[in-house]
Amino acid sequence: MKLYLYNTMTRSVDEFVPLEDDRVGLYACGPTVYNYAHIGNLRSYIFEDTLRRTIAYAGYGVSHVMNVTDVGHLTDDQDDGEDKMIKSSREMGKSVWEIAEFYTDSFFHDTDRLHILRPHVTCRATEHIDDMIALIARLEEKGHTYTAGGNVYFAIDTFPTYGQLAQLKLDDLHAGARIEVDEHKRNPKDFVLWFTKSKFENQVMLWDSPWGRGYPGWHIECSAMSMKYLGEQFDIHCGGIDHIAVHHTNEIAQSEAATGKQWVRWWCHSEFLLDETGKMSKSKGEFLTLDYLVSRGFDPMDYRYFCLGAHYRSQLRFTFEALEHARNSRRALFSRILELRKQAGDSQGSTEGAGRWLDEFREHASQDLNMPRCLSALWGLVKDASIDPACRLAAACEMDQVFGFYLEQLNPEKAEEIPFEMMELIREREEARKAKDYSRADEIRAILLANGIEIKDTPSGTSWRKLM
Ligand code: AMP
Ligand code: ZN
Repeated sequence: MKLYLYNTMTRSVDEFVPLEDDRVGLYACGPTVYNYAHIGNLRSYIFEDTLRRTIAYAGYGVSHVMNVTDVGHLTDDQDDGEDKMIKSSREMGKSVWEIAEFYTDSFFHDTDRLHILRPHVTCRATEHIDDMIALIARLEEKGHTYTAGGNVYFAIDTFPTYGQLAQLKLDDLHAGARIEVDEHKRNPKDFVLWFTKSKFENQVMLWDSPWGRGYPGWHIECSAMSMKYLGEQFDIHCGGIDHIAVHHTNEIAQSEAATGKQWVRWWCHSEFLLDETGKMSKSKGEFLTLDYLVSRGFDPMDYRYFCLGAHYRSQLRFTFEALEHARNSRRALFSRILELRKQAGDSQGSTEGAGRWLDEFREHASQDLNMPRCLSALWGLVKDASIDPACRLAAACEMDQVFGFYLEQLNPEKAEEIPFEMMELIREREEARKAKDYSRADEIRAILLANGIEIKDTPSGTSWRKLM
C-alpha cells in the first residue's frame, strides 16, 4: 500500500518513501512528567499511534522512539517560566525524581488503556545527559554557540535556514526583541543549550559539564536522543502543532548544524483538542484527564473512537455530549462485532468477499490517515448483509490493525452492556431524528423505555441509561 502523508516542511501531502526499503524510523516528542497528561496530550499520542499502525499496515517495519522529559525546568518553549517539577515536588512532598517516576507511570497507564502501543525505545532525558553534552560540544566546535551570563546559547544566525519549518522569515526574527527578557541573547530567537545559571532556586537536577555544573536546555534532548537511537538521518518526527515554531525549529537547527546534513525527512503534526476556552493546556491549571472520563462512566475506547472521528489535522472540540455520541457509536460497533462473531460461529472467514470495503478503507488510510472515512468504511462493511458474517468479521479485524480497538479481544460479558437489538434501535432512532421522522423516533423511545432504557437527546446526539 502506498502511503501519502502531509509533511509540515513542504506543506503538502506527498508520497511517503522511507530512507530504507522496509524500516521506518519514527520519533515522537514525549510527555513532560510533572503532571498528569490531559486528554489533549493524549489526542496527540493517539494520532502518533495511528500513524505507526498505518505505516505497519502498509507493510513497513517501524522503530518508534519517544523521549520522556523528566527534567522539570525544561517545560517552557522560551527557556523560561517557573520550574514545574519543583513546584509539583513541593506540593506533593516528594522529590523531583519521585515526581518524574510517578507521572511517567501514570502516562503509560493512560496510553495502555487507550491501546497506544508502547514505543520500541522510551528514553529519559536524565539518562542521556552525556549524549546531550557531546552534541553541544560538537556544535561548539563548529562555531554555532556562544557563552553569555553563564549559559551556552545556540546562535541562530550561524544557521542560514533557521525557521524553515515554521516558515519564519529570518529578517523578522529580531522583531521579537521587545518581549525578550534575556539580555544575554544576541538574537532573541537564540536558545539555551546548557544552563549553569539557574533561574530557579533549589535546582536539584544538576550535572557536570565542560561549561560548568548545570543542566541542559529542553530542545537538545530530542536531537541527542533521536540521533542516538535512529541515526543522524531518519524518516519521521512528530508532535503537536504547538511544537512547530520553537521546539522543532530549534531541534532542526542544532541537529543539522551539528551533522551538516538533513536530519528528519517528514514532519507530522497533529492539531489541538479544544475545550470551551480554547486549547486544552496544563498551564491553565484545570484540565481533563482520562481518569476523569473513566470516573464519569466512559470507557477509554470511547475517547479513542471520539479522536478517530476527526482528522488529525483538524481541531477537535471536546464536549461530554460529543463523547457520549462517540460512546453510542462505539458501543453499537462492538455489539455488531459480537453479533457477527455469534453468527460466524466456528467458520474461519477470509477477507476475500469484503474487497470493496477493504479497498475503500485502504484508500482513505493511505491518504494522510483519513480515519473518519476509514470508520465509515468499517461501518459499511459490518452492515453489509450481502457479505458472509465470518468474512465481515475477518475484514473488520484487519481494519482494526489500524484502529486499535482490539475487536478480536472483545469480551461479550463486558462489552454487551445493553442488548444488540436495543443498540440498533438507538441508532435507528438517531437516524429517524436526523430525517425529522419524529413519530418513528417517539415510537422507538417507547420501545426502549419498555425495555428499561431511557433516552436523552442532546444537540450532538443521544445518550442513554439503563433504568434500575
Ligand atoms: P507536553 O507533555 O505538554 O509536552 O505535551 C505532549 C504532547 O501533547 C505534545 O506533542 C503537544 O504538542 C501535545 N499537546 C499539548 N496540548 C495539546 C492539545 N490541547 N491538543 C492536542 N495536543 C496537545
Ligand atoms: Zn522534542
